[in-house]
Amino acid sequence: MSGAVKHKTFDVSAVREDFPILKETIYGKPLTFLDSAASAQKPQAVIDTVANFYSHSYSNIHRGIYKLSQEATEAYEQVRNKVAKFINAASREECLFVRNATEGINLVAQSYGRTFLSEGDEIILTELEHHSNIVPWQLLREEKGIIIKVAPISDEGEVDLKAYRALLTEKTKLVALAHISNVLGTILPVKEMIALAHQAGAKVLVDGCQAAPHIPIDVQDLDADFYVFSGHKVYGPTGVGVLYGKKELLEAMPPWQGGGDMIELVTFEKTTFNVLPQKFEAGTPNIAGVIGLGAALDYINQFNRQEIEDHEHGLLAYALGRLRGINQLKLIGTAKNKASIISFVLDDIHPHDAGTILDQEGIAVRTGHHCAQPLMERFGLNATIRASFGLYNTRGDVDRLAEGLKKTRAIFA
Ligand SMILES: *Cc1c(COP(=O)(O)O)cnc(C)c1O
Repeated sequence: MSGAVKHKTFDVSAVREDFPILKETIYGKPLTFLDSAASAQKPQAVIDTVANFYSHSYSNIHRGIYKLSQEATEAYEQVRNKVAKFINAASREECLFVRNATEGINLVAQSYGRTFLSEGDEIILTELEHHSNIVPWQLLREEKGIIIKVAPISDEGEVDLKAYRALLTEKTKLVALAHISNVLGTILPVKEMIALAHQAGAKVLVDGCQAAPHIPIDVQDLDADFYVFSGHKVYGPTGVGVLYGKKELLEAMPPWQGGGDMIELVTFEKTTFNVLPQKFEAGTPNIAGVIGLGAALDYINQFNRQEIEDHEHGLLAYALGRLRGINQLKLIGTAKNKASIISFVLDDIHPHDAGTILDQEGIAVRTGHHCAQPLMERFGLNATIRASFGLYNTRGDVDRLAEGLKKTRAIFA
């Protein structure tokens, strides 16, 4: 894919200059932002693209005959091409714009699930899923009487493949799993897990929220049936996400929401539906958000992805080393194959108390259950502290975190 593409060399101090928020101070201290797994900060290019669109090019799309509307439509549809390239989809029609990953999963549960699953059919989740990849399936279970099975994980936070294999039977119709855990950072062997599911005749939805910012995605190589991610975690705006689906599946699925744009012809007796992708994009979409997402993908693509990965991997290794030096700090999630997301607990100190002290130092970390309560239960915890790194983080950020944690220790000693 890269081939002739010219990439800028990855230089973290230059990258930081692109993110205006990183110049902010919090309680008079420089912001140390370690919560990109919840939502990533935005480069100036994304902010400017959205502002410029509203200032100079805004109009509704797919409707107007006038120049502005045609150009807005063109810009919006161009982003679909960028998304298709970003995940290596076979065609642009397979890439649908939704509000966020959560909406993408609900769309699959409500459209595909309601149509193709029936009572007694089984779906498999893993123990490390985000609530967004649990609750939509439970809602479907209420309605259709399907059965949800859960593939367990090890103490290290890796999926137990033997147990997963044993759960796959001819009753399994769907597997829905994270590509990377938002709590543990575990990178799941999704390609292998998809192949196993396919052997059993099941379809697979991959929740790629944490993968999209960290590793290259190739939906064809993975052979994923559905793949979702959120724009705001790949340095893009909030309010826009992507649902990828294989064409034959999306074509067989009924529309989820009805309204403008998704129709071909409406009479009070009968309505016929538009073709892909419009069939699934009812109503005026987040036009500026989609255009901002395009700028975010351009931002990422200006670098060689391997250099971003190497940078983040270096941060992870450095952070693990620094955190190991802190008294009574226990890492939660020590998978061999791991992205730059670290969860930990400090023995008797409540994560929220630690988070409050770190905040006083200008350090933004996430504390709580991270929308993964079943995973917390698996580790016998209510909450963890989570530090997650994006492409703009530095070893200096890690050092400030380590110092902040030492201070926290001292206060509670
Ligand atoms: C953030 C996240 C979600 C939910 O994303 P939204 O943008 O809130 O819809 C789902 N799964 C994982 C793994 C996540 O990290």
